[in-house]
Amino acid sequence: MSGVLPEKIFFDNFYIWFNKDEKQEYYSTPLYLYKANTKVDYDNRLVNVYFDAKESENRSQQEQGLKFPANLYFPYVERMGMFLLRFLNANLESYEKAYESFFFAYGFEILKDIKEDYKFKLKGKYANDVEYLEEMERIYNDLQEKIQEVQKEMLDFVNYVYNLNENEELKEFTPAQRFAVYLMKHKGQAFTYNRNDLLIRDSYSNKNQEFGNMSEIELLNQLKDNAMLVSMNDMHQSNDLSAVCYVVLEELVQMSNLPIKKCQNCGMYFIPSSRLDEIYCDYPKENGKTCREQGAFQAYNERLKQNKALAEYRRLYQQKSMAVGRNKNNEQMKKDFEKWKKDAKDKVNKLKHGVLTEDEVYEWLMENK
Ligand SMILES: [Zn+2]
Repeated sequence: MSGVLPEKIFFDNFYIWFNKDEKQEYYSTPLYLYKANTKVDYDNRLVNVYFDAKESENRSQQEQGLKFPANLYFPYVERMGMFLLRFLNANLESYEKAYESFFFAYGFEILKDIKEDYKFKLKGKYANDVEYLEEMERIYNDLQEKIQEVQKEMLDFVNYVYNLNENEELKEFTPAQRFAVYLMKHKGQAFTYNRNDLLIRDSYSNKNQEFGNMSEIELLNQLKDNAMLVSMNDMHQSNDLSAVCYVVLEELVQMSNLPIKKCQNCGMYFIPSSRLDEIYCDYPKENGKTCREQGAFQAYNERLKQNKALAEYRRLYQQKSMAVGRNKNNEQMKKDFEKWKKDAKDKVNKLKHGVLTEDEVYEWLMENK
């Protein structure tokens, strides 16, 4: 399917597109921003959206002009993959939790086409926040089961594609290969998830906004010298949450530098932002720290503990060696010390190579004083 880029009116649909070089995804939504917070980057014509319950409490409930016409030339921006990650991590138990963990950023239009026989009605305007949110709560509750079903399916899909259950058989294959096979074998419902995806192909005719102020000759010369990079970004229009998840995953599997992982501390799905072998996420937690920061702290504590065993080893070595020196005629004591030295050295080596833990070595030292 292919569509036409809307020039002015696109209030009722959700759009998403990507920039792989920048590792960013952009989206446009007729989001009704009540509790969501935004930071506008006017220089780059981008809007960052985030959730801060405290900040939103201070927002005026009287605010008019509730509809935020986020537009295609002024889209929301996030790290690539965030839409899918947020959905995988979303708490869907209740409307409030779902709003705070997912919908605040994307709005509810992405539920319009999620279920064929469901009549989804949204008015163009609401008198106030309360009226709108009540309406959305009703829709959420009607569709909750379906949304949870999609989440379960996407979790299975992602676990398979990135082999997050560490299945030995799957280890040697790439995410792209597993992605293809999952769909070909119809391992879940995910193979139908692209049905509500309207692809809008980028073309030069869409570049008027960007380059319209340059003269023909200028443009021709720029293209001739290849000095001007015209980026083409195909755009997806969809009001089906499952289709958008599918689109994002399909983009991600083509990029080997953006693997989805599961945080070894909190279990949330994340994409490492710097090191590919990162095992902790960088989502801020209640205490304001990310798992990565906490992980680094734990590793530091681990090193401290390791020092404790080594210190104990050195202390005992010193003590025993002096005792042997004081009792030169005690052959048995000398023999015991030689044996202890050999065994203790072996334990310490194993600790240094990670074969034994700090606690195990410390315990051994305590038992063999
Ligand atoms: Zn985490």
